[in-house]
Amino acid sequence: MSFFKNKDDTPVKWKEKYFDSLDSQEKLEKEYKTNQDLLCKTIIRFALAVKGFDKTLDPHLDRIRDLLKTGIKSQQLRTELEVFSNALMAMEDHATSSQLDATLLFDYLQAHFPSRLTELQKLGKRYEAREFSNPQRLFLALAEILENDTQPETDDFADELALADTKAISQQLIRLLENADLPFEFVEEGNNLKLRLQNGQSLGPVFEDAVNLLLTIKQHLQLEQQEMADFLSTLTEELAELGLISAGVNIAAEDAEKKRTSLDQDLAAQMTDLQKKSANATQLEPLKQLVSIRLQGINQQLQSYAEQEQFEREKTQKELRTLLQKIREMETETTELQSRLEAAQSRATRDPLTNLPNRLAFEERLTDEIAHAHRYGTSLVLAVWDIDFFKNINDTYGHKSGDKALMVIAKLLSKHCREADFVARFGGEEFVMLLPETTLPSALKVADKLRETIEKSSFHANGERISITLSCGITQYVKGDDNESIFIRADGALYQAKQNGRNQCLSA
Ligand code: GH3
Ligand code: MG
Ligand code: MG
Repeated sequence: MSFFKNKDDTPVKWKEKYFDSLDSQEKLEKEYKTNQDLLCKTIIRFALAVKGFDKTLDPHLDRIRDLLKTGIKSQQLRTELEVFSNALMAMEDHATSSQLDATLLFDYLQAHFPSRLTELQKLGKRYEAREFSNPQRLFLALAEILENDTQPETDDFADELALADTKAISQQLIRLLENADLPFEFVEEGNNLKLRLQNGQSLGPVFEDAVNLLLTIKQHLQLEQQEMADFLSTLTEELAELGLISAGVNIAAEDAEKKRTSLDQDLAAQMTDLQKKSANATQLEPLKQLVSIRLQGINQQLQSYAEQEQFEREKTQKELRTLLQKIREMETETTELQSRLEAAQSRATRDPLTNLPNRLAFEERLTDEIAHAHRYGTSLVLAVWDIDFFKNINDTYGHKSGDKALMVIAKLLSKHCREADFVARFGGEEFVMLLPETTLPSALKVADKLRETIEKSSFHANGERISITLSCGITQYVKGDDNESIFIRADGALYQAKQNGRNQCLSA
């Protein structure tokens, strides 16, 4: 047959060739499929790894992953990749400030700690709702949940997940560790963990160590919190004491009370602020700094308060001193007035020549004594004395000598009567004597004895010895007597004594 030019061109050969080319075609297709799978996987891995870096990129990454699950639909994928690429270009560098996507980490934790599933889910939701101000708080909350369950359970799912997303989870853990504000003592341990994660160590043990680290940090922070609470309680006590001391003694009480109340309120506000901050604080050092700043503020407030109080105290003291000075001046003035008043009173009631009470004083005393005798039924005697022929003394020896004689007689009369008795100059050369609690006979005896004493006394005038005698009229109080009636009776007796020849005492 001319159709077949040579032996090789036989239908059998064509068939072989056909099968061969079919084989190579299949091989190519297989290779293409493998490459496609590899590409899919790579893109999925890439999407997983990048997820969480920026929220704006995540929806794109999710869509790309969904697309790739059903194989590569080149046109759609190209469009999606282009959109993603644009988003990537437009992405602002705010990844660090945005919250990390910890979905995978939570997936992993939920798989490892099935007994804590609900709590972890809740925590995941709280994290997504951005309830945690920093990764450290997330760590602490995680530590709280995992505290009693430190042995992670592994199952097939967890293994699969760990295998598939180890890198992404590791990266999330690394970023959490980087962002966590670890206490100074734990920074090195945190860095070691980071290194182990970066070196791709198997996630299980690293994670276990991470949980242990978190628990230790939590314990450390609890201790610090306790220490802080103790510190603050001591501080509060000290401040309270300080407040008491600063209260001190105050003169301008009302004003100071107001200022102290406002100071107390300020201090209370500062303390409340401190307590609030300490309750939220997780590290002692920054808190101590905060306390120190607050204390400085409080100290300044106390100082200015003390200065102000000192100023006001000095002011008040100055006012007080002026006031005291005024009081002293007034006291002196009062004393002066008092002595002037006493002098005036004395002038009014004393006889300047003999220094005996005068007639006015006698009248007052007589009124009192009559009242007393009347009330208590006691006896009271009145004696009226008159110098005999005094006019002659004046006339013979001069008025001055008369004065001198008056003074001597006044002294003798006062000297020879009892303390309870009362002697006064009634006027001119007349003297009166009140003898309370004395009967008339004994009073008469006393008066006569006195008369004799004066008679015997020596008086000298102009070098001459002169004799002075007195006559005396005596009477005692009788019911119904007043000043005038009793005096008239005594004066009557005196008149009689004069009439009888003078130098004698007569009673009536
Ligand atoms: P009789 O015995 O009757 O009492 O006579 P008499 O001279 O004492 O009585 P008279 O009443 O006549 O005189 C009283 C005199 O006393 C008159 C007066 O000058 C004098 N006399 C009164 N007061 C003072 C005085 O203060 N100083 C002096 N030196 N004499 C006085
Ligand atoms: Mg007389
Ligand atoms: Mg006389």
